[in-house]
Amino acid sequence: MAEFDLIDHIRRRCDLARADVRLGIGDDAAVLAVPAGHELVACTDTLVAGVHFPHGSAPADIGWKALAVNLSDLAAMGATPAWALLALTLPEPDAGFVAGFAEGFADLAAAHHVALVGGDTTRGPLAITVTAHGFVPPGQALRRDGARSGDEVFVTGTLGDAAAALRLLGTSRAAEFTFAELRARLDRPTPRVAAGAVLRARATACIDVSDGLLADLGHMANQSGVGIEVEAACLPASPALLAIFDGRERCALQLAGGDDYELAFSVPAGQAHDLAQDLARIGCAATRIGRVVDGTGVRALDAHAQPIELPRRGWEHFA
Ligand code: ADP
Ligand code: MG
Repeated sequence: MAEFDLIDHIRRRCDLARADVRLGIGDDAAVLAVPAGHELVACTDTLVAGVHFPHGSAPADIGWKALAVNLSDLAAMGATPAWALLALTLPEPDAGFVAGFAEGFADLAAAHHVALVGGDTTRGPLAITVTAHGFVPPGQALRRDGARSGDEVFVTGTLGDAAAALRLLGTSRAAEFTFAELRARLDRPTPRVAAGAVLRARATACIDVSDGLLADLGHMANQSGVGIEVEAACLPASPALLAIFDGRERCALQLAGGDDYELAFSVPAGQAHDLAQDLARIGCAATRIGRVVDGTGVRALDAHAQPIELPRRGWEHFA
């Protein structure tokens, strides 16, 4: 299949009309109109085969995840997604791969009314870069630097499933029934877009959990100039995770595993009830997992308030 046939297939599969797209795929660049009274929020993320998804992942899952990780970044900013660009590097002009990829990408794009407005297609080792744009009301983007001592720290959903799936991949336990549920969290993360929008009115700081809870909260602590204490016993776990892992191992997967794409955020003390009500309205659960304190860094504490030491706190590409 030729380059332009691949692009045409992607364009047709991702066809979605938005009035703010003045000119989409087909010219040298897209022309886009930011709606009056909004700020533009922009992010980009690359997926490399064997690093960000296991070799042999279903093309549709790769397409979904390539967009999902970007929508998760927008969600962490409290932004409403609007546009995406797709830079695709393929070893071969593989029509089957592109069809599957476009399907997964388009399914998630449609769910969030995101228009694919351009991209690039090249030959090389399989890698995908998506750039996403969204809108926030002026000055209302959620940031990493607003946490204050005394705030409470929460996380949406559950933690550790994706890391558990990676841990079990290629072992005999990957045949277990519950593995499929964990694997789905690894392959098809749910960006918490609606929760991010709700949190604009509630959170003092927010980050999405991509590298691992401790690592990501570490960024929040550093940029806010505070310390964060995480109570490991409070970490929300899915039934699937609880069924397969316990004790120390589960704790490590939840604290340092990564790939969760949940939102971790700080809220002024005393707002837990109102927060839960706001999030319940959009069908999202959040769990209090710790607190912001004076000082620096992130500490994980066990049920006896003793520090938990882990071999690694999260994923780092150049570590
Ligand atoms: P140029 O050579 O001017 O950079 P290209 O030939 O690379 O343009 O791309 C032609 C059009 O197709 C452009 O509008 C570009 O944005 C779009 N495009 C290329 N690859 C992709 C892709 N993988 N997904 C979406 N749009 C793409
Ligand atoms: Mg050109």
